[in-house]
Amino acid sequence: MRTVELLAPAGDLNRCKTAIRFGADAVYIGGQSFSLRSRASNFTLADIEEACLFAKEYGSHIHVTVNMIPHEEDFEGLETYIKELERVGVTAVIVASAAIMNIVRKVAPSLEIHCSTQLSVTNAQTANFYHEELGINRVVLARECTLENVREITKASTIDTEAFIHGGMCVNYSGRCTLSNRMTLRDANRGGCAQSCRWEYRLFEKKKEITTSKTYFTMGSRDLCAAQELEQLIHAGVTSFKIEGRMKTEYYVASVVSAYRHLIDRILEGTPLTEEECNFYQKEILKGENRAVCNGLYTNERGDNSLILHMNSDQEVNHDFIGKVEIYDPDTKSFFFRCRNVVKVGDTLEILSPKKENRNFVVEWIQDEDKNYLEECKNPMRFIEMPVPFEMEPGDIIRRISK
Ligand code: SF4
Repeated sequence: MRTVELLAPAGDLNRCKTAIRFGADAVYIGGQSFSLRSRASNFTLADIEEACLFAKEYGSHIHVTVNMIPHEEDFEGLETYIKELERVGVTAVIVASAAIMNIVRKVAPSLEIHCSTQLSVTNAQTANFYHEELGINRVVLARECTLENVREITKASTIDTEAFIHGGMCVNYSGRCTLSNRMTLRDANRGGCAQSCRWEYRLFEKKKEITTSKTYFTMGSRDLCAAQELEQLIHAGVTSFKIEGRMKTEYYVASVVSAYRHLIDRILEGTPLTEEECNFYQKEILKGENRAVCNGLYTNERGDNSLILHMNSDQEVNHDFIGKVEIYDPDTKSFFFRCRNVVKVGDTLEILSPKKENRNFVVEWIQDEDKNYLEECKNPMRFIEMPVPFEMEPGDIIRRISK
């Protein structure tokens, strides 16, 4: 069976390396300018170069978002930046502006250009135009496409397609929205979206408040989780599957990437997924999620099940992030890490290791740096040791199963 790409987000070098270790075939990142989500873009050119070298070791790739909608004053330094991206080994740039596509083609011919979802590609004619007339290599399909649309576009197009499978949804047309601009003077199309659609609002008639509970008037969307649709998307011929979330934590990146890696590998084995398996993988994916999810517009789901209307969008986190393994000592069969959440003797912890099934153990003892035994550790970032009945690697993720 053919291979497909699992494409993960990363807001910094650490998260980028974690995504790659946990099975991302490619990671998309943003530089410090020319990108949407500018607040999530912490990559200097030196960081991008290091990310490319790290990715190469794992056979993975780095894509860089250059997806702002530029105004006249936004072009300064762009050509030099694009040339540098090509020089340091970036595979592709994700672009939403015809002007930037033109510049990339002229100054960095070996860089792939991927059409950003901002361009709202919802039909094969548009996809083919970008490929045949402008030499674009891939289109990221609009999140407004249904599963049937994705199938038809991918079948009829001469270009690779990429589809979102997980993460935040924009309730307007993939960012074509001025809510944030109007309310906060932060331009959603130049990296500044304040996510005003997700705020809680209060409604007044003259001076009298007429809301009695939390209200989300602008209909912010629940996050996307397409675990149930992924098998059909793969069979539709989509090349790349994208997880949204460059502002998400290292724990989120590790746990969501790891779970989708397992699911994709299982689908690529070829035999159809059973309903039970599908539910199992979806549950695994949602262990890293703290927001209510829906399956986006793939199945045309509508109404309260896809929106954060009158309810709080946050669901309870059912797994606590405890830390990341720093040292494993095979002689003492114990490991050391900086504690990020309260942990105590008797807790059941789960270990996420790249490309392995998750493993559990019960905490038998905890020691601090001076070898004092602790019943529990409440101090964030305290360096502690505990025994473990199996081997680990630095970088493995530790979480507590709460429910
Ligand atoms: S405010 Fe909401 S709807 Fe508008 S661009 Fe931002 S995420 Fe999209």
